[in-house]
Amino acid sequence: MKLSHLALGVLAVGALAAFPVASGNPYYIHLVETIMIYAIVLFGLDIVVGYTGQVSLGHAGLFGIGAYTAGTLVLKLSAPLWITLPAAIAVSAVFGLLLALPALRVTGPYLAMVTLAFGTIVQILINEMSFLTEGPMGITLTKPTVFGRELDETEYYWLVLAVLIASLIFVHRVLRSQLGRAFEALRGSPVASDCMGVSVYRYKVYAFVISAALAGLAGSLYAYSEQYISPNTYNFELTVLFLLAIIMGGRKTRTGALLGAAIIVMLPKLLDDLEMFRIGAVLLAVIVAISVAVGLKRGKLQPQLAAIPVVGTVLLAVISYSLDSMTDWRLSIFGLITLFVVYYLQDGIVGFVRNALNLRVRHQRDGSASGAQALTRAGAQGEGELLKASSVLMQFGGLKALNNVDLVVQRGSIHGLIGPNGSGKSTMMNVLTGIYQPTAGTVVFAGRTVNGRTSSDIALSGIARTFQNVQLFGEMTALENVLVGLHHSFRSNLLEITLHLPRYLREDREQRARAHALLDFVGLGELASEEARNLPYGKQRLLEIARALALDPQLLLLDEPAAGLTAPDIKELLEIIRKIRDAGVTVILIEHHMDVVMTLCDRVSVLDFGQKIAEGLPAEVQANEKVIEAYLGGGA
Ligand code: ADP
Ligand code: MG
Repeated sequence: MKLSHLALGVLAVGALAAFPVASGNPYYIHLVETIMIYAIVLFGLDIVVGYTGQVSLGHAGLFGIGAYTAGTLVLKLSAPLWITLPAAIAVSAVFGLLLALPALRVTGPYLAMVTLAFGTIVQILINEMSFLTEGPMGITLTKPTVFGRELDETEYYWLVLAVLIASLIFVHRVLRSQLGRAFEALRGSPVASDCMGVSVYRYKVYAFVISAALAGLAGSLYAYSEQYISPNTYNFELTVLFLLAIIMGGRKTRTGALLGAAIIVMLPKLLDDLEMFRIGAVLLAVIVAISVAVGLKRGKLQPQLAAIPVVGTVLLAVISYSLDSMTDWRLSIFGLITLFVVYYLQDGIVGFVRNALNLRVRHQRDGSASGAQALTRAGAQGEGELLKASSVLMQFGGLKALNNVDLVVQRGSIHGLIGPNGSGKSTMMNVLTGIYQPTAGTVVFAGRTVNGRTSSDIALSGIARTFQNVQLFGEMTALENVLVGLHHSFRSNLLEITLHLPRYLREDREQRARAHALLDFVGLGELASEEARNLPYGKQRLLEIARALALDPQLLLLDEPAAGLTAPDIKELLEIIRKIRDAGVTVILIEHHMDVVMTLCDRVSVLDFGQKIAEGLPAEVQANEKVIEAYLGGGA
């Protein structure tokens, strides 16, 4: 962490800690306390929404489960704080798991509906299970007792602050680790995640459980904070507010979560008080105007786009002064603000400010390994067949994309796979990597059957690939992309990550060095901290190769790696593929550039309309009449 960040953090914590003493107003103390509690929920929700890209409408339910776990334990067993908080975490994590296991098999609107149903069911259950929860009556409880003394308002506030800081550190560490990278990767490209051995489903569930645990923790704090819990609190409205807070504050930022929490707690109050609302609106307009001005000056914003937020906020300020009373307008204004943020500030307020001010996080290179170390699986493990596909049939409706194709690939060779467009080459790759299950036929790799196994399992057994349409994790840096490929080399668990235990720290250092070495290997060393989506197309293709190599594959599948590359780039690529082969990695190369195929490949198979029409040495294949006809007929 940079010193300025640390200083800023200390300052913020100091200000928050001093607030109750400085303000002395119980109403405001409670308000800030609520903001902090909501922020803990939002840290967790952001992992699901911001990082893995799933929508959850069940978080109010999980929050309620945490609150009721604490409330019930206090009511029935007079349990102390050190029992109730861990219990709330555990119980909501279990509910999160039960919800996630079936729910995360679906995505998008279906997932939203399932989680929404979950939230509703939780609310109904709390209502009905009176023997445990006192039903609609609710549970009244006192502030917790610590060291034999009941905490007062201010002391409890400090406790919440301490838990907030602990949660912040926890979430920060998790997100910076291999877990966080897995979460982010599966949003960036699910198919690439699976093919890097990072099971999309598994890490979605993992993210959801961590998120649920944080919601439960916050819920238990909330129970003590309010000193009264009842089923009505944990309703649909609260769940929507949570989501709104993430969207408004900005996803993938802790500052955004805090800001979002402040907005959902303060905005309704602000809208109750006309004077406050006027001041707030003017302040907002000024902040937005300054951000936009700075952004424009640095050339980071388009003028048309920048005008919208300025006009919007100024308009809001003007409206605030033309109203005599807020009561009739509250909901409309709330709705308008929401719509405005969702439409025009898609990265939320923090994202917008960051963009405008061009504040980017940069990581320094720490430690390095030489390029030679990059490829560890050196030396071909003997001769013989590495891959054998027999009578593979892949049918899409009536279309036989692959029709009885046999393919044998020898260890240590570069095997070319060519054919006109639509002849089934990419389909073959998808069959080999488990993205498609073949209609018939078998694939055996290194003595094990591939059929029926998941993509991530196949990847971990040693098949890595690149994609015809580049599939990078766009919002992640080049280095992080490669680190996702190295995911399989991490052994440390959640506890080691959270506490920064030696094994995790060593692993992290070593794998970062390896990732740098792999980037050097493909010539991207200088671009390590550049976001993948900002790289030029040719570099993106090279990055995909580096990421695939991170998997330590025995077999590397390259799907048209030279497509869209300039002549000098292609030369560089040839060199890299040769070096990969020399390191002992077997390669299957799909390529349209005949000169590339002819110079590189040891053997070539030719597909046409899903059938293998020729196979042999490059020169033989080039002279084959059927092949010439297929290419002329296909117009390629
Ligand atoms: P190539 O990579 O050789 O250009 P593909 O393997 O991408 O060709 O496609 C082979 C044929 O299979 C094409 O006709 C394509 O439209 C069809 N195809 C590929 N994937 C699917 C799919 N998921 N659903 C339906 N048809 C597909
Ligand atoms: Mg293709």
